[in-house]
Amino acid sequence: MTARILVVDDIPANVRLLEAKLTAEYFEVLTANDGFSALEAAQAQAPDLILLDVMMPGMDGFEVARRLKTDIKTRHIPIVMITALTDTADRVRGLEAGADDFLSKPVNDIALFARVRSLTRLKVMMDELRVRHATTGQLDITDEAPLDTEDDARNGRILLVESEELLAEKLTEYLSAAGHDIFRTTGAAEALERSREQDMDLIIVSLHLAGEDGLRLCSQYRSQEETRHVPILLILDEGDLEQLAKGLDLGVTDYLIRPIDQNELLARTRTQIRRRRYHDKLHEMLAKSVSLAYTDPLTGIYNRRYMNAHLDRKIMEISDTQKPVSVLIFDIDHFKRVNDTYGHAAGDEVLKTVAERVGDSIRDFDLLARYGGEEFVVIMPSTPPDPAAMVAERLRLRLAAQPFEISGSDQALPITASLGVATTTDPTETSQNLLGRADAALYAAKDAGRNRVRSADAPEDGEASAEPMNAVAGG
Ligand code: GH3
Ligand code: MG
Ligand code: MG
Repeated sequence: MTARILVVDDIPANVRLLEAKLTAEYFEVLTANDGFSALEAAQAQAPDLILLDVMMPGMDGFEVARRLKTDIKTRHIPIVMITALTDTADRVRGLEAGADDFLSKPVNDIALFARVRSLTRLKVMMDELRVRHATTGQLDITDEAPLDTEDDARNGRILLVESEELLAEKLTEYLSAAGHDIFRTTGAAEALERSREQDMDLIIVSLHLAGEDGLRLCSQYRSQEETRHVPILLILDEGDLEQLAKGLDLGVTDYLIRPIDQNELLARTRTQIRRRRYHDKLHEMLAKSVSLAYTDPLTGIYNRRYMNAHLDRKIMEISDTQKPVSVLIFDIDHFKRVNDTYGHAAGDEVLKTVAERVGDSIRDFDLLARYGGEEFVVIMPSTPPDPAAMVAERLRLRLAAQPFEISGSDQALPITASLGVATTTDPTETSQNLLGRADAALYAAKDAGRNRVRSADAPEDGEASAEPMNAVAGG
């Protein structure tokens, strides 16, 4: 993944070192030597991540972080504080100022890349979500109400896999105090089962499980469907760096080194939970936007665009199947009167009920779509003219036989529709032409007095479709 990283340090040698490491991993690197130029670069160049030195003359890292977080243009950029001191007070100040994570000098490569990857992925996801929100217009999200608030990481469901009682207790205490729900397990089998039973936001796994291999468990989590996308934090010792590299390859998302610093634990937990939740939100929105593109919002049935694509496909298939394709168009009779008498909302209710009734009456391989205002289309593959006319007649009766209930009125409303049917056996006929023929038949039905079916492909004598519809067999 290419990401743009701003490195801020007052000592040129430190900047050059980080720049060299990051460039070697194909990150794009920007640099700044003091707080003011850091703020300028952040505003002008929109980096995906900022590595920020704490001790700088003039404006220190804490102040830079605070200013970045109060500026709408830069508040969503993740910040990693780089501190020479292992002083916990500094870490707390950093968190309060808005830092997302810490690194200690001298910066270790594995730590650097684990943090950078973790946070740039989070940022990419947040950006994507912002764009989706803006384009779907589903939720009115503006920069004044940013998505990346602390709330996104509250009340996490965390599975803790740790066989060492004392450490497990301490982790549980820290995480519970931060408002998370902790599910404690001591062994791999129980941990796997637990993760299948309940959706987790994060899994924390100890590399050294009593008699078991923590890495094996991580790999099982990656291959198991329910946990494939759940972030994993690995707990290990300073001397375990080789296994850590293996773990990161396996898909472990981040790690913590013992003895565990409470602030580090909470910062990393927060990053991973946010990432998990953005991932879920993105998926949800994607599914929604796909269904929005294909369905009619009022009735929930397919829209005209989808119907057209489906019909094109069905007509093309005629060259293989040699089976006729029929379409039926119907239009509600005197629908304007419904709106005029009972109001637009009542009209909407009728349209929904029409879609339900017709949807219930067609076969699984038929497709119902809303064609326009009060016009609907049913596409019937493998259906010759006569059976198609029979389906149309069945639908006509299904609507006319039972008056429609509408809210706010105690009398049910009689509703009828006029229907036109057309059939093709020609794979080169356009869907537009076929629909046009069905539409002409529909208008013939309207002209003949409404509440009836007309077929564009009537049998030779034309009688079956010219008669009032009770003459069509099979109704
Ligand atoms: P006809 O029997 O000739 O079809 O008469 P009609 O009144 O149904 O025909 P017309 O096409 O003139 O009127 C259709 C009406 O449908 C006009 C329009 O306001 C209404 N309409 C279109 N879409 C909607 C909708 O989504 N909701 C509601 N409530 N009404 C709609
Ligand atoms: Mg109408
Ligand atoms: Mg109409």
